[in-house]
Amino acid sequence: MSESVPADLVAQTWSRPFEGPESIPASADIVIIGGGIVGVTTAWFLARQGINVVLCEKGHIAGEQSGRNWGWTRQQGRDAREMPMSVASMTIWRTLAAEIGEDVGYRQTGCLYAARDDNQLDEYASWLPIADEYGLDTRIISGEEVARHVRGATVSWKGGLYTASDGRAEPHKATPAIARAAARNGATFLTACAVRGLETETGRVSAVVTEHGTIKTPVVLCAAGAWSSMFCRSLGISLPQLKVRGTVVRTAPGKSVVNGSVFGDQTGIRPRQDGGYIVANSGFLDHSITPSTFRNAGKFLPALRQEYKDLHLSIGRDFIDEWRTPKQWRLDAKSPFEKTRVLNPDPNPRAVRGIRKSLDTLFPQLADTEIVEAWAGIVETTPDVVPVIEESATIPGFHIATGFSGHGFGIGPGAGKAIAGMLTGTDTGIDLSDFRLSRFFDATKMRPQKAL
Ligand SMILES: Cc1cc2nc3c(=O)[nH]c(=O)nc-3n(C[C@H](O)[C@H](O)[C@H](O)COP(=O)(O)OP(=O)(O)OC[C@H]3O[C@@H](n4cnc5c(N)ncnc54)[C@H](O)[C@@H]3O)c2cc1C
Repeated sequence: MSESVPADLVAQTWSRPFEGPESIPASADIVIIGGGIVGVTTAWFLARQGINVVLCEKGHIAGEQSGRNWGWTRQQGRDAREMPMSVASMTIWRTLAAEIGEDVGYRQTGCLYAARDDNQLDEYASWLPIADEYGLDTRIISGEEVARHVRGATVSWKGGLYTASDGRAEPHKATPAIARAAARNGATFLTACAVRGLETETGRVSAVVTEHGTIKTPVVLCAAGAWSSMFCRSLGISLPQLKVRGTVVRTAPGKSVVNGSVFGDQTGIRPRQDGGYIVANSGFLDHSITPSTFRNAGKFLPALRQEYKDLHLSIGRDFIDEWRTPKQWRLDAKSPFEKTRVLNPDPNPRAVRGIRKSLDTLFPQLADTEIVEAWAGIVETTPDVVPVIEESATIPGFHIATGFSGHGFGIGPGAGKAIAGMLTGTDTGIDLSDFRLSRFFDATKMRPQKAL
């Protein structure tokens, strides 16, 4: 019998019923597909400009990655291409609660990568030129200073990379709160409303077809996270994406061992507002092999080479499910998006055990602190581990913003601002040209973002 996490530990947050809309608008200036942080913050920026925006979400707002992540909002370690978006994001996070009039759990409590040896410290230090270029307060700190941030840890640290201006926020609060703010500004949110496909006129987008009817629109944004590749494929657009399962736990309130987000010895830990911790083991990247793995293998080779030590490969049900999913479907019948309203993978029991062990060995003060919940999320990643953001070259009016590759929560608000600019043709000062889809198909050399 296969092992599983005890049922009373598995988070039930996403099992609530789905409420479909009573009616849907006949038309909109812009339709967004996907109610994660990327789609929702884009809707917020658009609604504030008085644009008639409708967001369709097949399940719940923040039901997938945006409600399940670690809650780190960091600039530290970002790929240079993402820095303008990342810095803009941090500016937004700082005043977000005041602007929307709701708490999102944001605290500027810093981000620390603790190193055990010189090699790791040197690797961290190699990011300092990027920090300097963007005027960040990132610095290398001594082992003694690390010990002041990571209290009572059993290991001795050589030093660390520290950015005091980085922060954290509560994923279960942030995206729903931004959605409510966008709705107050006039955006329409349709949940349990999957978009099945598009209609076009003379090659341009003219409407989205949802399970509840058609909405006429000249502009569509696909911010569908882990579903983007499948959606795009149904339109004849190849978008290389692979999925990785990440397992996360939440502890009961425990002794105060860290102030901000800390990564060390493969373990990521951050305090929650309620005094508990979110803990995960980054050395555990679960990839379930599917037909997409083979289709995209060539493009992902550099990233796979980089992460192979932490990659846990398996093959099973997901392979068959994806194999059986059609590449295209009729728009007047149930689509694959309605069949899985929320991607809610089981947490990996080995990962949960590993997290418990890391907690006990790294932080003996938390040895008695109970793990109260465990869950998993599916991260969608691109070959170079940075997103795709652009208007489709083949279907004018259709735009893509996806592939945030495990770090879209922190940069989500900045991305939303930049994407709203792209959709309205407004210069936000954030250059998106590095995020074009064609980089995976032309001579651009893949240099996957180092998992720093
Ligand atoms: C375990 C884990 C830990 C992470 N930790 C961090 C972290 O600490 N910091 C950080 O910055 N990032 C982190 N991330 C990554 C971050 O959560 C994601 O990059 C970000 O949430 C992506 O947002 P999104 O809006 O693009 O996608 P999602 O949040 O996945 O939203 C996409 C939405 O689109 C909907 N959808 C799909 N297809 C359709 C359709 N056809 N019609 C209607 N709706 C559709 C889906 O239901 C879904 O709700 C983590 C992710 C995971 C899973």
